[in-house]
Parts: sequence; structure tokens; C-alpha cells
Amino acid sequence: MSIEVLNVSKLYSSQKALDNVSFSIKKGEIVGFLGPNGAGKSTMMKILTGFITDFEGEVSVANFNILKAKIEAQKNIGYLPEHNPLYVEMYVKEYLQFLVEIHKLGNIAIEDIIIKVGLTPEAHKKIGQLSKGYRQRVGIAAALLHNPEVLILDEPTTGLDPNQITEIRNLIKEVGKDKTVLFSTHIMQEVEALCDRVLLINNGKIVADKNLKELKENQEQVIEVEFDLKIEKQFIETIPYLKAFNNTHDTSWVLTFNTSKDMRSIVFDFAQNNGLKTLKLNTINKNLESLFKELTT
Ligand code: ADP
Ligand code: MG
Repeated sequence: MSIEVLNVSKLYSSQKALDNVSFSIKKGEIVGFLGPNGAGKSTMMKILTGFITDFEGEVSVANFNILKAKIEAQKNIGYLPEHNPLYVEMYVKEYLQFLVEIHKLGNIAIEDIIIKVGLTPEAHKKIGQLSKGYRQRVGIAAALLHNPEVLILDEPTTGLDPNQITEIRNLIKEVGKDKTVLFSTHIMQEVEALCDRVLLINNGKIVADKNLKELKENQEQVIEVEFDLKIEKQFIETIPYLKAFNNTHDTSWVLTFNTSKDMRSIVFDFAQNNGLKTLKLNTINKNLESLFKELTT
């Protein structure tokens, strides 16, 4: 196991930030740690990385106990903190070199890491001159320097613009090919875009631990459709796999199917066979979203 967490609880004075949390993550998994603000994600990550040591329970990373063998565990962890402190006056390379020196990492091919995280065009600049997206790349490069088995990324895309988000997601996917990754987010689409598995946390408790594939297979599918004419519900009822329907406007319907198969072409054919034109046809991928809402409100 890359990460093992057993019955972990954490109090900040009287406030319970984590309440009997247990999970384990296998080597090579990319896991999304999803939960609303204040759920306990950062606290869990600070415990996993050895920055918070006063907690109850057992934690090991790369089979090293985080309290009893902290240095060994940390050698296997790359950490991108939520508010990543960067030295804005330093140049990118200088900063990475500085980290190599203070952590006594020896001979590290910084240039290769700069290429890997896509920093090459900005590598000659001062960190303070970089956009937030490139600063995150510097943070990820820093987390990769010692080639750790496990990457812990605390909200790596929060505060980035849409293009930067896509780029950082792609980077996480890329580095996740040969690492175990746990990243936190409060955006469920992020989980769908990136990972195999989701751990959902709310009020300090793990409320779901699901495989994304499983989740997708079990899901219902919702389609929004608009025809050019009004039709009777008896016609709508003839569409196969239909579980529920709602006539939202005159000619607009929301159709719920109990299948994960893409039903758009069936709805389209239905319209054509009944002499209707399809003016709008959208799938709404509801499952993770509804699960998130259900479990966090
Ligand atoms: P998340 O990262 O999911 O937003 P956090 O782990 O940061 O959640 O916080 C969990 C809970 O613990 C929140 O209610 C937060 O206010 C509280 N908390 C976090 N850090 C501290 C701290 N240093 N002192 C007191 N309370 C804290
Ligand atoms: Mg946080």
C-alpha cells in the first residue's frame, strides 16, 4: 500500500476536523479527495505528510509510519501544499536548486524535471513574474525533485483560469502514470476528469469511497431535449429505458434513463420516427454531482 490511514481523528482545540477516518490507497492509483470547504481535506493531507503530528490513529506512507519513521516516509512523499509558499525573488532554477541543496538530494537532473512539468519557456524568470498556473508547475516540480512514490496535491487547480486548469490536470495525469497520487478538490468534475477513485469527505468523515467506473456504470442518465412541436406524454413513454420524464416547457423535456448507454441517438431517432425535429439534445451527467450533493448537505 502507498497510503494507509486507520481510525484517524484530529481535534483543533474543541473542534473535530477529522472523525475516525480510514482508507488505503494502492500503489499507482490516482485518487480524488473530494469535499466542500472545511471538510478536513487539508488537515488529512498535513497529517499524511508529517506536518501535523498531534492526531489519533495510525498513518503510514510507502509502508513507513509517519510518526515513527517520519524521515523515511517523507522521502517517499511529494507535497504540494494548499498555499504553496514560493520564494518570489528567486529564479525558477535557482529555487529548485536551492531545494535540492537544503534537502541534500545530491545530483538531481533539474532540467529534466523542468521539461517534465512544462516549465521550459518560463524557467529563466523569477517566480514572482510567473502566472499562477506556472507557479503551480514550480510547486509540482518541487514535489517531484526527489522522485517520490506518492504525490499529495492540495487543491492543485484552485484559483487557476480554465486553460491553466486543463493544463495542470493534464500534468497531473502525466505524472500520475508512474506515481500514486492523492489530490484534493471541491470540484466534482475534477475527479471525473482525473481519477480512478474518489474519496468523499464531509465534516471530517469519509462518506463515500467509490471507484469511478463503478459509479459510472450504476448511473442514471439525464437528457434534456427540445422538439419543434408539442407532444403528448403517451408518445414520450414509448422511449426505451425511460425511468422518469418531466415536461419542463412547452416542447422541452427532461428524460431520465436507467442506463449508462448514451441515449441521445435513441431520442433523436424517436423524434424522427414521429415526424418531430430535435432542436436541442444534451446529456447531463448527474451521478457524481447528485452523490456529492446528497452526501454533503
Ligand atoms: P478543507 O481543506 O477541506 O477545506 P481543513 O482541513 O482546512 O478543510 O479544515 C477542517 C476544519 O478544521 C475546518 O472547520 C477548519 O476551520 C478547521 N481548521 C483547520 N485548520 C485549523 C487550525 N489551524 N486551527 C483551528 N481550526 C482549524
Ligand atoms: Mg483545504
